[in-house]
Amino acid sequence: MDTIKFIITESSDVKNTPYQSCDVVVQFNEEELPHAFFNANQVMAVSHIDFVEFDLFTCSCGEPGCAGFQAPVFQKKSEKQVTWQFPLAEMYTTQKKLYSFDREQFEQAFTNLFNELQKLEAENIFLASNFDHMGYEEQDLGFEPHPPITISEGTDWWKNRLFAESKAHSIITETVGDSFSDSFTVQYEDKSYPHKVSAYDLIGSIINDFPRGEDDDVYFDKLKKATDAFALALKGDYNKIVDIIQSSYAENDLEAKDFICRWFWEFENNEADLDVKKIRFINKPL
Ligand SMILES: [Zn+2]
Repeated sequence: MDTIKFIITESSDVKNTPYQSCDVVVQFNEEELPHAFFNANQVMAVSHIDFVEFDLFTCSCGEPGCAGFQAPVFQKKSEKQVTWQFPLAEMYTTQKKLYSFDREQFEQAFTNLFNELQKLEAENIFLASNFDHMGYEEQDLGFEPHPPITISEGTDWWKNRLFAESKAHSIITETVGDSFSDSFTVQYEDKSYPHKVSAYDLIGSIINDFPRGEDDDVYFDKLKKATDAFALALKGDYNKIVDIIQSSYAENDLEAKDFICRWFWEFENNEADLDVKKIRFINKPL
């Protein structure tokens, strides 16, 4: 069994503010992971969820990809264990790609971290990732930066979004199977989108919308209909999915051909004859 531990770094002053900032170092089996900013709010929210993808670290701008983390870590919880599967591509400098933690040790580490961070906030010390870095950069131009967000605000925001995503994943998984794995190819006539995509991303792009909150019934109803239509398309009947693409894009003043351009940028300047009826979704190796 692996162990996970969080160590809060020494705090330092944040220029022109009454605040200090700190960061969190992640240790696996007493070994420190070299990193950018700890992606505290998301990771903290994720620690409550059974099946989920997340970014462990991020950039000062809040975009993990900007700091070189282009693929997510996958977390799976069972009754007694939590596993973290790191992406195969080298972006996280870990000893292994798969870690298995004792669930109790894992959850205790998160509870302790949360409590310690809240104590620090009472002393005006906030996480580096929770400062309005953009705001500070533009301070000279007269912008007033937002105060840092608290770990509890940040965690709640992510929990709401992740529980909604997790609900969306289960709706899709029930109908078309594992919605996380990249198993679909998008084709238009003789062209194939060069990467495989997950059912979740594909259906999200079909309805041109992603979940924001767990109780957004209008969204989940739309998602369910699109998922059923997607399942029909996989069997060769594209009528329903074409209707859904047309109406979803029309809702945002877009046309169905914008869905095609989303996958095939090369059409962007030459889209006159695009016909969404010619789109195909393939779920077997080419
Ligand atoms: Zn950045």
